[in-house]
Amino acid sequence: MAREQIVEGLVLRRWNTHETDKWVSLLTREQGKLRLRVRGAHKSGSKMGMLSEPLNIVRTRVIRGRHQQLMVQPQMVATFLKVRSDLERLSAALALVELLDRWLPEEHAEPLVYETALAALNTLEAGQHAPSVLGWAIWRLLKLFGYCPELDGCMRCQRSQEEGEWLLDPGEGGLLCARCAGTVQSLPRLNSAQLALLRDWLQRGSPVGQGEQEAALALLKCAVCYAEHYLEDSPRWLAFLAHLNALPETE
Ligand SMILES: [Zn+2]
Repeated sequence: MAREQIVEGLVLRRWNTHETDKWVSLLTREQGKLRLRVRGAHKSGSKMGMLSEPLNIVRTRVIRGRHQQLMVQPQMVATFLKVRSDLERLSAALALVELLDRWLPEEHAEPLVYETALAALNTLEAGQHAPSVLGWAIWRLLKLFGYCPELDGCMRCQRSQEEGEWLLDPGEGGLLCARCAGTVQSLPRLNSAQLALLRDWLQRGSPVGQGEQEAALALLKCAVCYAEHYLEDSPRWLAFLAHLNALPETE
């Protein structure tokens, strides 16, 4: 028997499996990620088509059948117009929702994940530096998912001095000092100021302020290395990096 409820959530992704219907994955605070069938979203310019676009927050009836759940009569709660009108902010926001969609299991509630996503989108909407917001969000998610790196010292020699360069190695689960890292070239190197910012990010419940942009770029690149290591499939989700890679290297 069908069960009906009202939910509010963020559209992470939309895809086709049928000529006349689409599916969305909707991230909710109370129930985690839901996979919902949307009837009538295929017609160009249709209200259902607009409402079911990624990055919308909608409030909707959900009717649960035996094999699927239907999204019925959704209403717009927020659509992040300023994010949509700026290519860099839009790219960062789409990278974030794609990462969430790939990472989260279905119907497993993670209220802090939902709050992190909303905090990131609201801060992008307010105009903050997009790489900083995305970097903060990915590190927060890594922490929430249990992949928080050890930052107390070198994982191999226990050296704890903060000076010099450090590597964040996902295989080790934390820092390597320059001596232990040897000639490893594939991982970004961080200085002590960047590590201090990372410690700060991991504690913060909201994204960074201004004035930390170069360190933020370095930490975003590290976050991507970490996330790629723990994601099982290829990182198509970060087309955003194509943009970043066109920027000069930061030290
Ligand atoms: Zn070491």
